[in-house]
Amino acid sequence: MTRKESRLDSALTVLRGVGPALAQTLQRLDLYRVEDLLFLLPLRYEDRTTLVPIGSARPGMRCLISGEVLLAETVYRGRRSLLVRISDDSGQITLRFFYFSQQQQLQFQNGVRVTCFGDVRAGPNSYEIVHPEYRILREQQEPEVDDALTPIYPMTEGVQQGRLRNFVAQALGIMRSEAPAELLPEEVLQDLSLPKLDAAISYLHQPPQDVDLASIEAGNHPCQVRLSFEELLAHYMSLRNLRNLAARESAHALLDKSGLQERFLAALPFALTNAQQRVVAELKADLQVAHPMMRLIQGDVGSGKTVVAAIACAQAVSAGVQVAVMAPTELLAEQHMRSFSDWFQNLDIELAWLSGSQKQAERRASLAAIASGQAKIIIGTHALFQDAVEFANLAFIVIDEQHRFGVHQRVALRNKGKEGGKHPHQLVMTATPIPRTLAMAAYADLDTSVIDELPPGRQPVTTIALPESRRGEVVERVRQACAKGQQAYWVCPLIDESELLDYQAAEASFEILTDTLDTLRVGLVHGRMKNTAREKVMRSFKAGAIDVLVATTVIEVGVDVPNAGLMIIENSERMGLSQLHQLRGRVGRGAAQSHCVMLYKQPLGQLARNRLAVLRQTNDGFLVAQRDLELRGPGELLGTKQTGLPEYRIANLVRDAELMPLVQKSAETIQQRFPDASRAIIRRWLGNEHQYGKV
Ligand code: ADP
Ligand code: MG
Repeated sequence: MTRKESRLDSALTVLRGVGPALAQTLQRLDLYRVEDLLFLLPLRYEDRTTLVPIGSARPGMRCLISGEVLLAETVYRGRRSLLVRISDDSGQITLRFFYFSQQQQLQFQNGVRVTCFGDVRAGPNSYEIVHPEYRILREQQEPEVDDALTPIYPMTEGVQQGRLRNFVAQALGIMRSEAPAELLPEEVLQDLSLPKLDAAISYLHQPPQDVDLASIEAGNHPCQVRLSFEELLAHYMSLRNLRNLAARESAHALLDKSGLQERFLAALPFALTNAQQRVVAELKADLQVAHPMMRLIQGDVGSGKTVVAAIACAQAVSAGVQVAVMAPTELLAEQHMRSFSDWFQNLDIELAWLSGSQKQAERRASLAAIASGQAKIIIGTHALFQDAVEFANLAFIVIDEQHRFGVHQRVALRNKGKEGGKHPHQLVMTATPIPRTLAMAAYADLDTSVIDELPPGRQPVTTIALPESRRGEVVERVRQACAKGQQAYWVCPLIDESELLDYQAAEASFEILTDTLDTLRVGLVHGRMKNTAREKVMRSFKAGAIDVLVATTVIEVGVDVPNAGLMIIENSERMGLSQLHQLRGRVGRGAAQSHCVMLYKQPLGQLARNRLAVLRQTNDGFLVAQRDLELRGPGELLGTKQTGLPEYRIANLVRDAELMPLVQKSAETIQQRFPDASRAIIRRWLGNEHQYGKV
């Protein structure tokens, strides 16, 4: 079945009033084709379909009223304004103008009738509307009302509301003569009991008077759900295509040929948790298959992801190939280097180190060992994937702290590691657990494993929030804890995204603490220090030679010091929930009871209060993430820009997360049985964008 080129597919210039220049401007709203206008939904609607009796107008309403002028006067209370009092049978209201001409002033003669539209608010003496749109009625003239709600569209510079409305109306006209293809199969539509596409579009652009506006504002009107669903489906299927593509590619099947993995496990000084064992088994099975693994491990801070990754590395090395382990910062990469060295030391496996700050000679030696295949496990930062690095036979890539790493980077890396027609296996690890539904949308190109259990003997960290006025007590508490041999973190968060201020705040706290805690050894680390200097301080802290470590958020991820049992966080009200949870995860790693004190500046807003309450109530990273998602949205949780998490046109992951299981189910049906529809849906929603994978 071939469809003839539809006018909905045409460039916007087919519309009356759109020339090439305007078409350019409209691209800023992501509008390229006529059909795109159909998916540009109104931000809100104005109701000019009924006259609201003045007596029932309330603050917060935006409404159309009509009445007779009782009095117009100019007053000078602080600021000159024109007040026009009007009334109908039901009550009175004031129109307030700060800017007005003499002519305007003269219009409002007593007894003149006017119709006005605007926002009602509570004024000093009565309800009022500031700068209403208004029209003076002639003698005998009846006030006019519209027949449908007026849609208000998102604006861009150079396109007025009225014109945009006109273009959308033209697109709707075209749609009515040639309906856009209904791409959802009948059975999926029935499953969901959602309206048809064209019905949903018409409704949302030109809702009838009895529309349930509250439901539209909440975003759960069936017509909106119909569109959000298709959009989520398009993104999901596009990511799944990537996954399916990988399933058809080939990779080295990695078997524990030399028994290294078995020896690794035997030498491990602790027993794996059940959750770790389960994930180890999942990885083992994936790596044995001759198709590239694409797997994500989600696990709370301290759940022991690193050792699980190391066990998988042992399997790969045992099979005779190389592994690359990448971390987002030098500090974290160094820590992995240390753990891996400990674990692999007695197993005769050569490791190599690569980082940006490395000395030339050392780097050359590393590169040589990597190229010759002598180095089996290569650990480092992004420097691992620079062009100069040549691997002998790289077949497995481990990426720690996945959330800084988006889908595009994952794809790039996969292609980079490709050799002899074989793709590397990929394992990504994230310590930002995210709710399952969000993970479905963000990581549909990956299989997921969850480590939902902490190693035994860990006690939940007790968490309290205190106003900054009680700093003195907190310092005293640090003194007592350290006197008993414990160690403490004192964290000063990012201020205004500025490294300099950030550093100054940490520096100031460091000086105060050094003065007050004169019997203790206080250290300082921050983002402006040279890596070597920072590393030195971190090492002393780890070795117990520093009691209190003052730090900026550089210690946020990954750093492991089991003897540190106290975490103080300054200005906690400025930080996101997941970030606070990450910081708190730095303590509670030893057997002793650990504490986290969140200091905050008063007054505390309601949102900040709610956030801190969540942390006091739970230690469960998944719950924290769920609340973070609800309070701040997925962009904050994942860092939208870095993750490549799509910017949706209509869907909203916080609001629509519950659709994801259905999206997943429908995607399976459509991709298996209606591949043409799948391609068309992806094209409709992602056609103008950079696509994740080839369809
Ligand atoms: P994360 O998941 O945050 O990366 P790590 O891998 O850094 O956690 O592990 C935290 C600490 O717990 C490390 O010191 C690690 O050696 C230790 N660990 C990991 N698994 C276990 C276990 N099953 N039993 C005891 N300690 C463990
Ligand atoms: Mg880690």
